Amino acid sequence: MTDAQQFTFKAETKQLLHILIHSLYKDREVFLRELLSNASDAINRLRFEMLTNQNVLDPGAELKIRIKVDKDNRTITVQDTGIGMTHDELVDHLGTIAQSSARKFLEAAKEKGQDASGLIGQFGVGFYSVFMVAEWVRVTSRSFRPDAQAVTWYATGDDTYQVAPAEMTERGTRIEIKLKEDAAEFAEDYRLKNIIHKHSDYIGFPIYVGEDEKPVNKQTSLWRTARNEIKDEQYKDFYRQTTLDFEDPLLHIHMVTDAPVQLCALLYIPANAERGVFSLRKEDGLKLYSRNILIDEYNKDLLPEYLRFVQGVVDSEDLPLNVSRETVQSSGLMPKLKKALTNQVIKELEALAKKDAEKYSAFWSEFGVYFKQGIAASPADVETITPLLRFKTNTNPDAWSSLDEYVSRMKDGQKVIYYIVGEDPKAALRSPHLDAFNANGTEVLLLTEPMDSFMLMGLRKFKDYELKSVSGAEGDGAEPPKAESEAEKIPEGDFNTLIEKFKQALGERVTDVRASNRLVASVARLVDADANSSPNLQRVYKYLGKEYAIPKKVLELNPSHDLLKNLLKLEEGSELQTIVIEQIFDSALLVEGLHPDPSSMAERVQRIMEAALKK
Ligand code: ADP
Repeated sequence: MTDAQQFTFKAETKQLLHILIHSLYKDREVFLRELLSNASDAINRLRFEMLTNQNVLDPGAELKIRIKVDKDNRTITVQDTGIGMTHDELVDHLGTIAQSSARKFLEAAKEKGQDASGLIGQFGVGFYSVFMVAEWVRVTSRSFRPDAQAVTWYATGDDTYQVAPAEMTERGTRIEIKLKEDAAEFAEDYRLKNIIHKHSDYIGFPIYVGEDEKPVNKQTSLWRTARNEIKDEQYKDFYRQTTLDFEDPLLHIHMVTDAPVQLCALLYIPANAERGVFSLRKEDGLKLYSRNILIDEYNKDLLPEYLRFVQGVVDSEDLPLNVSRETVQSSGLMPKLKKALTNQVIKELEALAKKDAEKYSAFWSEFGVYFKQGIAASPADVETITPLLRFKTNTNPDAWSSLDEYVSRMKDGQKVIYYIVGEDPKAALRSPHLDAFNANGTEVLLLTEPMDSFMLMGLRKFKDYELKSVSGAEGDGAEPPKAESEAEKIPEGDFNTLIEKFKQALGERVTDVRASNRLVASVARLVDADANSSPNLQRVYKYLGKEYAIPKKVLELNPSHDLLKNLLKLEEGSELQTIVIEQIFDSALLVEGLHPDPSSMAERVQRIMEAALKK
């Protein structure tokens, strides 16, 4: 046996230690994550060794990590039954910086000068991070090789460390940490348990704290477990524990693939779009693990914006361990992961729609708006999203229909997809613009959410069919079905007189008054003067709160309507004639959702009632 030897740390290790010891980094708790991840690696390596070699020390010892706290002495001990280290390995591994990310950390720290503390969380700095909380550290290890001697390594964070023979009968590594005074908070079981839950819950080996017989961590990384070994209840449990959402998720997606990237993912679609008040998830984003180690709590680069409601975990072995977020992003792997994940989510949603229309409807009611936004915001995704869209229509107002279903029900010769934009489905269904369509059963999409107007900016076509508003004027290319009223029309001369009366009464408020061939049950409707102008865009401005003057419109009248026939019979220039004209115009504004002051109508309506009751 040799006596204790003193070694000097390599220059860069010295620098690193210096920064860590003097750092004011607030999340010092990550030191435990680093130690546990090293312990887990060591156990993994032993397990690998044992695949081919049974000649190891303590072959039957449980593969585990135990943490003990001595509050009075302010020490923590983390012990694993992993592969252990020989004397030379200890000197090699804990005397120099093994990780490239720690080197990168040093480079970045040099650039930043004094305040490098913010960088610590971004770069996993490995074992040395323990010096953020430690006065001294003693590592005692015994290699799996049956003939190896136990050794111990001791450092206080200055330039040197000591290595000496030690007594240790069991295989593995024990790390003893004397906490700095200002780190005494970590000498509490509950505190350590919390840190484990937060950062290391899915380490694949049991982590015990104190004398507990029950491990603190969940251990099984559910996403790495074979699908056929997982019960539905476990999927739900996992979701509950990671989100604290008390409602079961609508859907889980468990994905395991090796090409083109190695990837295990367990994704969830929540039942509600709103996060609950108690949710553990503070932001959108997926948890990103690399080989069971959490790299990013809220990664937003793994799915497109429009799928940001998806919760869960992604784990890829292709990601380098402990790399910074910046490095992850630039690694070229992220776009591949994103593509694979997005395709899978879309595929599963399409399958759900086929298999369980009711559930898909529930999904759509909650999350449809995200997809509509996606169409508005990202032209590249339009084709992917469109098959997932669902709409209510005038002929199917209670069910959600896909555009494919709409197309399959189109009338012979129908060349475009019709839609109506409105404030709400009931109002839309009563719109005079639907008269002709309702009369001959032509289907029209009801677009009654604010987001629909934005969606329309990105969705102009589906397959070969253009989308056209039914509220357009004649000549807009929408070629509506012919379905004029069967009632007799007002003779042309009389109708022209009537038009003049309207023009006189409404003056500048309309750009024109004319007959319509698209009205059946309704008296009148308002259309844009310019066939190319977009009532939808007007709505978008309104929703964006932009200065918004009511656009002047053309008032179209139904030449067969009894109301107009009776209006003509009224005494020339009578007051009633004028107020009825005013009311027809106001009602038309109202159904368009354009009326600036609906309450102003009350008085006029009362006068109309009085006139009606006089008879
Ligand atoms: P990294 O773990 O990323 O390689 P660290 O600085 O954290 O970097 O650790 C350096 C090396 O020390 C590890 O690669 C490993 O070989 C060795 N090591 C650390 N902790 C343990 C342990 N608990 N058991 C066995 N070897 C360990």
